[in-house]
Amino acid sequence: MAENFFYKCSQCGKEYGYGEVSYLCPVCSAGYKPGVPLLGVLEVIYDYSSLKKYFRKHKTDWNDFLPVDKKYLPNYFVGGTPFHKTINLGNHFGFTNVWIKNDGLNPSGSLKDRASFLVVAESNRLGIDEIVTASTGNAASSLSTVCAAAGKKAVIFLPVNAPKAKLVQNILCGAEVIPVKGTYDDAFRLSLEYTSTKGGLNRNTAYHPFTIEGKKTVGLEIFSQNNFKTPDSIIVPVGDGVIIAGVYKAFYDLVQIGIADKIPKMICVQAESSSAIHNYIKSGIYKNAENPMTIADSISVKTPSNVFLAGRAVKESGGLSLTVTDDEIMQGQKLLAEKTGVFAEPSASVVVAGLQKLSQENLLKKHEQIVLLITGHGLKDIETPLRNLKIPEAQKL
Ligand SMILES: *Cc1c(COP(=O)(O)O)cnc(C)c1O
Ligand SMILES: [Zn+2]
Repeated sequence: MAENFFYKCSQCGKEYGYGEVSYLCPVCSAGYKPGVPLLGVLEVIYDYSSLKKYFRKHKTDWNDFLPVDKKYLPNYFVGGTPFHKTINLGNHFGFTNVWIKNDGLNPSGSLKDRASFLVVAESNRLGIDEIVTASTGNAASSLSTVCAAAGKKAVIFLPVNAPKAKLVQNILCGAEVIPVKGTYDDAFRLSLEYTSTKGGLNRNTAYHPFTIEGKKTVGLEIFSQNNFKTPDSIIVPVGDGVIIAGVYKAFYDLVQIGIADKIPKMICVQAESSSAIHNYIKSGIYKNAENPMTIADSISVKTPSNVFLAGRAVKESGGLSLTVTDDEIMQGQKLLAEKTGVFAEPSASVVVAGLQKLSQENLLKKHEQIVLLITGHGLKDIETPLRNLKIPEAQKL
């Protein structure tokens, strides 16, 4: 089914054929300069009527719902992560139908593997051996991991304050790591300069349209693991806004071909100091986050790349947006571990802090089906929880 699509600019609506453009809409992105969100992010639009016929006939796997032909996918296993109900955590907040999609159990320990996998597949199709990204940490370790598996070279622009485990992953996987004395936003700019002068395929989130399509696969899986039913709401940690746009796109595609009857309410959770998307959703006006300083490093973003599509996902799904504090995130991490046995990094734990708020403010129904999207593994960053932990002292023998 691959190549059965075209690109559509999410801003001006102009359509482009596959191969005609590589990253952003050339018209809209002409005005782009670092420091503002990406302009002219492209969406992949399938030929839904032929997909519909194809699916009805073949009852096939979700790889047919991707823009790259199966033969280019790396010989590696990404996705297929557990989806299960959590009675204890649900009860704790007065909900009866809370589920976990545990994407921390991907090979590199985060949902980012889904995007890396598809961009590496695209590099196979194009015959490009070097793939470049800027990252707060997980996109980098994910790209390095998938590149190692596929025999490609990863070039990584990483802020120096990224958690150690994420740095180690890159180095062990043989990536070229370029530490950036600055923020993620600085790393983003440097990586764009690199690919425009030196070449390679750029995997920057939302910049390469396949990052959204790759992250979409988590939504497709939730749907099939949920017996081909759409949950009522999905709670998503949001940084650049690509995951939430990807999950929305999964259900959008499923509705287009008549397999799903609705799109779940997309619930955006951001850290209080890194809430540019939240503020945009609430006010309709975009402003950079002034000084993102949160322990949730994977969602610490001043200028989120995909703010407009993230905002649209929340609005068009009838969803909600909220912010949580670092203290609430730490409590959420502990509660999630204690009540479910799922160990999530701080950025992923925002969904539990979010669930707490939604419960306190009566924003969800007691019996509705709620999915917590766990985006990254707790072992990615143990320094942060260690600050609040007391390790028992050894007894004298
Ligand atoms: C990247 C990431 C997010 C946020 O995804 P965006 O697409 O940037 O919104 C959330 N949690 C974890 C663990 C991540 O690595
Ligand atoms: Zn455009």
